[in-house]
Amino acid sequence: MSQLMPAAFIGHGNPMNALEHNRYTDAWRAFAASMPTPSAVLVVSAHWYVNITAVTAMRVPRTIHDFYGFPQALFDVQYPAPGSPEIAERIIDTVKPTYMGRDEDSWGIDHGTWSVLTHMFPKADVPVLQVSVNAELPFDYHFDLGARLHALREEGVLIIGSGNVVHNLRLIDWHKPGEGTDWAHRFDEGVRSVMTSDPSRLGATRDHDDYRLAVPTPDHFLPLAYLAGLSAQAGEPMRTLVDGYEMGSLSMTAYELAGA
Ligand code: ZN
Repeated sequence: MSQLMPAAFIGHGNPMNALEHNRYTDAWRAFAASMPTPSAVLVVSAHWYVNITAVTAMRVPRTIHDFYGFPQALFDVQYPAPGSPEIAERIIDTVKPTYMGRDEDSWGIDHGTWSVLTHMFPKADVPVLQVSVNAELPFDYHFDLGARLHALREEGVLIIGSGNVVHNLRLIDWHKPGEGTDWAHRFDEGVRSVMTSDPSRLGATRDHDDYRLAVPTPDHFLPLAYLAGLSAQAGEPMRTLVDGYEMGSLSMTAYELAGA
């Protein structure tokens, strides 16, 4: 009997979460501990935001340190999980006729992925693949591509969207740890009411009064569209895994789509 793997959207926040232990990282760990070992982890990361749709297909993906201004300890992190060209082929087949390219040498595992997986799978022994977020294409494309990934859940693949619902780096206030501004709360709560009832309506949150402040660029928001698509395909809303705000203009909300 095939088992349906859970899926999740993770608000990854500050890259330092890779090295810290806090209530967000505790929730990510507990989520991973709640499921059978996946055959692979497929991550749609906000940090692979490019003008093509692709999946990593190398056998040994490199750890990418795609940030600056952080302590050396963060640059020293390696996440040596294997890749899987075979599972990449399977993903490419699954989403047809939507085109997905095969990336053999350009990307790898970026911090949107490893800052989360160092907690979820600290042994780095489960194959990891990333799917890019195609910056050229509209919201509905990402929602639809997410829905197309549904069959992979039946094959033991854990699908994760890694971004942040509210993500405005220009308005970061380092003096506000654990706090969100009023507009951050309003937008995050608006999204939450949709994700926990009818995620097929996620696209409508782009008309929310606070959307432009919360989502000044779509890169961290679009990974959520993949989970909304998966959720709609499964006919099940998502549950809040953990929530919170950081530095005024980030929300850390994570959503879980239950397995079966
Ligand atoms: Zn990020």
